[in-house]
Amino acid sequence: MTNTCLNSSDLYRIRVAVPVHVYDCFDYKVSQVEYDQIQVGARVAVPFGRQHLTGVVTEKLSPDTPIDPRFQLKAITELLDDHAIIDDKVLKLAGWAAQYYQFPIGEVMHTALPTLLRQGKPYNLLARTWKVLDEHAEAKVKRSEKQQEAYKVLKLHPHGTLETILNLSGIETATLKAIEKKGIIRCELENQNFSPEPLQLAQMPLTANDEQKKAIQTILKAQNKYQGFLLDGLTGSGKTEVYLQVMHEVLKQGKQVLVLVPEIGLTPQTVSRFQSRFHCNIALLHSGLNDSKRLQAWQHAQTGKASIILGTRSALFTPMPKLGLIILDEEHDLSFKQHEGFRYHARDVAMYRAHLEQCPIVLGSATPSIDSFSLAQQGKLTHLQLNHRAGGALMPKMHLIDLKIAKKQHGISDTLIKEIQIRLDKKEQVLIFLNRRGYAPVLICESCAWQANCPHCDAHFTLHKKPYEHLHCHHCGTINRVPDACPQCNQQTLKPIGMGTAKVEESLNELFPDHPVLRVDRDSTSRVGSWQKIYDQIHQSEPMILLGTQMLAKGHHFPYVTLVAILDIDSGLLSVDFRATERTAQLIIQVAGRAGRGDKKGEVYVQTLRPDHPLFNTLIHKDYRAFAKATLADRQLALMPPCRYAVLLRCESKNQEDNQRFLTEMTQLLRQHAGDLIDIWGPIPAPMERKAGRYQAHVVLLSQDRAKMHFYVREWWQQVLHYKPSSMKVSIDVDPQELS
Ligand code: ADP
Ligand code: ZN
Ligand code: ZN
Repeated sequence: MTNTCLNSSDLYRIRVAVPVHVYDCFDYKVSQVEYDQIQVGARVAVPFGRQHLTGVVTEKLSPDTPIDPRFQLKAITELLDDHAIIDDKVLKLAGWAAQYYQFPIGEVMHTALPTLLRQGKPYNLLARTWKVLDEHAEAKVKRSEKQQEAYKVLKLHPHGTLETILNLSGIETATLKAIEKKGIIRCELENQNFSPEPLQLAQMPLTANDEQKKAIQTILKAQNKYQGFLLDGLTGSGKTEVYLQVMHEVLKQGKQVLVLVPEIGLTPQTVSRFQSRFHCNIALLHSGLNDSKRLQAWQHAQTGKASIILGTRSALFTPMPKLGLIILDEEHDLSFKQHEGFRYHARDVAMYRAHLEQCPIVLGSATPSIDSFSLAQQGKLTHLQLNHRAGGALMPKMHLIDLKIAKKQHGISDTLIKEIQIRLDKKEQVLIFLNRRGYAPVLICESCAWQANCPHCDAHFTLHKKPYEHLHCHHCGTINRVPDACPQCNQQTLKPIGMGTAKVEESLNELFPDHPVLRVDRDSTSRVGSWQKIYDQIHQSEPMILLGTQMLAKGHHFPYVTLVAILDIDSGLLSVDFRATERTAQLIIQVAGRAGRGDKKGEVYVQTLRPDHPLFNTLIHKDYRAFAKATLADRQLALMPPCRYAVLLRCESKNQEDNQRFLTEMTQLLRQHAGDLIDIWGPIPAPMERKAGRYQAHVVLLSQDRAKMHFYVREWWQQVLHYKPSSMKVSIDVDPQELS
């Protein structure tokens, strides 16, 4: 390419990640002064089509880089930061993740920024205070109503007002800047120089037992270099205590620790355990924060003011100048994988980050994912095991109840009813798990077999009775009236089939009228604060029945629960997804782990129609590790992940034939290039073929050679995007967790 005709004003160029759904960065020109000033990792405002967007500088091009003649170079609008706000490691991390997950770099970079910075707001927004310099200058603002208003407000607060507060009351920054030019008000920055607080322990560490000691010492040997650990410890075996003691050593050296948890809202007590151990600045980063809180926490992490950064998956992209350790708790949890848009898995990105930062990473779980278990078996993760409950509590005993032969009332077997009564009489608590909210999953006509189905999905409506009787589709949100009579045969013979938590609540109240039943699901906890209220009640040690969905399975410490009952787990055994048994096993062990955490031994009852299922054979009669070994062996035989790598291409449109035709053409194209390096399954309709009125189909790609497959898929994905009809939606999911 020639560059002899280079216009000298085009010499200085920067490359910018712009938040648009395009897979490349864009080049912009800058003046020489700007070029000298700009740092990679700073934000710039740039024109893009008709919009003005906030991008991040990823590269300063050397003046002799050839210009691509296809594009007309535009100039940046404004340099937003005079220093890099995203460090080199996070830039690399984002670049890698964009490549690996086939997602536009500009959008990945946006994940790394808090909303206010994405919007182009000043970095020091939270420190910007406006003050009046001249209190008698009304004349200078009389031509603009907005300026008059702003000036009046500022005069009320002679010590200054934060810009964010002014913005909230409708006074725009642009207005303030306009008055500033007249010399009658001024913006001051609050002092932002801070030194980290010295680390202090707020609470003494527990005396670690031998297994914990061994784990702690092994992890601590790996400082200042990359090493991955799988902390595989029973529920209640003291994994958190291991994290805390390892963190203490790392914090003592003035380094930062990143702790990732699945969902902060559901397990506030995990957060409070970290907070109550250390007296130091802890930055909380999760989606429940408002924009300025999030910016503040992000800045504390990014400047090094915060020593502990505790967050959900997106906290992973926060710059941290002194990162010395990453901990990812409950590593098996599905919420570490983003299901929409940028479909990254926090576990894998975290491992890559630990590589870049040259620091250790600890993945912890009582039910490790088969993926991590496999890495541990291969020695790519150091396997640390905690095989005893800490503090002397015993593991609960597991029992299976065969629903085919059991006598039952309201779907609950007589054995279970008797056991529940015994526990309640002893003033203990009982936890009943059913992963299905609502009253009943199916409404059927007993005369003609008509079923109430969602008109937009291949799914039954769920019957709800509260706050009023209605039919609700849990997949697309459609709500319908419950018909008085069968719409097909007109008979009044409609009958709910199966049970949801609301129905079981009714039955339990009937069976155990003397004890409270606390229902915990998305319906009963939708109001702010209601979960906390229930939570406090559970910790008051009164005998009661807790009834709930997944929400009850997550890492909670319920010291008075001695009996756990799992009412119906069979749907998880019937699913077509190859990970379904893994998820089911994890759920059973996690729910079971809520039993017997205090000083009384716990028991667990699992009701099933399929007591002979191989899952129970290992899981109930042996343990999770036996299950994991057997499952990994199965995956090896079937050549499924993690024994091969997968990529899923999803396709959605109003017509299933269009999907099939398009995917068939596309798979042919891939086959031409990749030959038999990639095993192609499909196109096949998705397990739920129609959802919200649109048809879904997909293709699964599998290969033993990840790098080569990704190489072919990268090219191919661009072709898919190029050829797809505009009415069709496609998405690519690298290392998919669910084949839905
Ligand atoms: P996990 O994170 O593995 O589920 P936790 O860290 O929550 O386990 O520990 C379970 C219980 O055991 C907690 O109440 C904790 O305080 C207690 N515990 C943990 N380690 C010890 C120890 N070394 N000595 C005494 N109690 C401990
Ligand atoms: Zn009917
Ligand atoms: Zn629906």
